[in-house]
Amino acid sequence: MTNISHFINNAHFAGSSDRTQPVFNPATGMSEKTVALASVADVDAAVSAAKTAWPAWSKMPALRRARILDRFKMILWDRADQLAEVISSEHGKTHDDALGEVTRGLEVVEFATSAPSFMKGEFSENVGSGVDSHMIRQSLGVCVGITPFNFPVMVPCWMFPVALATGNTFILKPSERDPSAALLIGEWLAEAGLPEGVFNIVQGDKVAVDALLNHDDVKAVSFVGSTPIAKYIYETGTSNGKRVQALGGAKNHMVIMPDADLDMAANALMGAAFGSAGERCMAISVAVPVTDAVADALVAKLAPQIEALKIGPASDNSSEMGPLITARHLEKVRDYIDSAETQGAKMVVDGRTFRQDKQGYQDGYFIGGTLLDNVTEDMTAYRDEIFGPVLSIVRKPSYREAVDLIHGHEYANGTAIFTRDGDVARNFSQDIEVGMVGVNVPIPVPMAFHSFGGWKASIFGDHHMHGMEGVRFFTRIKTTTTRWPSGMRSDPEFVMPNLG
Ligand code: NAD
Repeated sequence: MTNISHFINNAHFAGSSDRTQPVFNPATGMSEKTVALASVADVDAAVSAAKTAWPAWSKMPALRRARILDRFKMILWDRADQLAEVISSEHGKTHDDALGEVTRGLEVVEFATSAPSFMKGEFSENVGSGVDSHMIRQSLGVCVGITPFNFPVMVPCWMFPVALATGNTFILKPSERDPSAALLIGEWLAEAGLPEGVFNIVQGDKVAVDALLNHDDVKAVSFVGSTPIAKYIYETGTSNGKRVQALGGAKNHMVIMPDADLDMAANALMGAAFGSAGERCMAISVAVPVTDAVADALVAKLAPQIEALKIGPASDNSSEMGPLITARHLEKVRDYIDSAETQGAKMVVDGRTFRQDKQGYQDGYFIGGTLLDNVTEDMTAYRDEIFGPVLSIVRKPSYREAVDLIHGHEYANGTAIFTRDGDVARNFSQDIEVGMVGVNVPIPVPMAFHSFGGWKASIFGDHHMHGMEGVRFFTRIKTTTTRWPSGMRSDPEFVMPNLG
């Protein structure tokens, strides 16, 4: 049995807690690893290491910090396959999908290597007679990232490269369900030359999270996960005086207009709804065909493709979709399908009937793709985030009613419209109250130099992740106003200074 440890001061750290949790391979349903669950003392040790490392790291020239990240980026490129294998073994996603995740994470490291540019300040000469003013960005101190199971590499990479590049030190609390990838990140950052204590990992559950949220030396918390926990993290962190960005759950709609290229839309839906078994915060879980004719044609194109999905382990290169993360989550997804059927949805393809018969994988957490038609707004399977390979069709007679449907949902992470009409597409992207919008692009995940984040119940806090929003989150600005002796020949002034 392998025990997955913490990582402090560039070394594995066993910690003082004897609490552990099994880590499963979702494709086999077997567990050969346990993960340490940090105690409050373990969290204290990580914060102390990060606090000690901060003064020197924050004063290191941004260019030198960027060079270390650049070396880390090259290690990631070289060992992407190894990292992808570790992701698949604990998450279950296919190898190519895991490689895609590594690339999207690596792109944020790439962005962070431009720190000398984005850390440039502003200077104004002669804001008053003989008075100059300049603004700089400074780091916050010890920052924390708390991340979900579904992207064990990409989501941490939304946070730590920008946090480190801007001069902060960092503690990552990965998901306890797939914690190994984080350790490779820690080891490879150390190999790239990152000084001790700058990047640390505490493995764990609520005990670790609460200790981080309540620690006086933690200055900022970046969170990604489900909405109830995001809300809790935001409320607890901010009430403790910390800066918090907390991204939550999602229910993403794709509108298919009558003039859309239907083959293109159906193919896009297949990847967006069933890729990574629907366990993506940007997965499309609701298709909204405008008019019944479009809905009928779309269902006719989707059903055979869903039935033909190749479902299997990452070790099989032909697999298009892997298992769900845990036995409990599999049960939950099945329950949502049951509830949709009971509440009157039409079962077009029933994923519950799928059985994995590959030798050695019969106990994996596999389920087939499900297509539900005639889903309505009041159904539980429509209102809740299912986070599984279940696509609901909600039919709408007009564009206006499709938009109203999206606006009626509490989540507003991503959305897409498929159309050939530029006017409709432009109105949609301007007016829709959702954070990330795709026009004939089903999963509009912004590139690293833009910023990622939803609206409404999909986010708590003011800053999206990475890009300049990430830089703003991980820095505070300082403005210095300067007058030199030649300009200081004045009498004392007791009114609000008016420099001009
Ligand atoms: P989760 O909320 O269960 O866990 C996320 C993190 O919070 C983990 O590190 C976990 O250890 C910690 N945590 C869980 N329960 C806690 C508690 N009671 N107190 C303190 N900490 C706790 O989420 P998950 O199941 O790992 O991930 C799936 C969710 O993440 C989905 O809702 C998905 O939409 C969301 N997600 C959102 C985005 C986004 O960008 N908006 C991206 C990825 C995933």
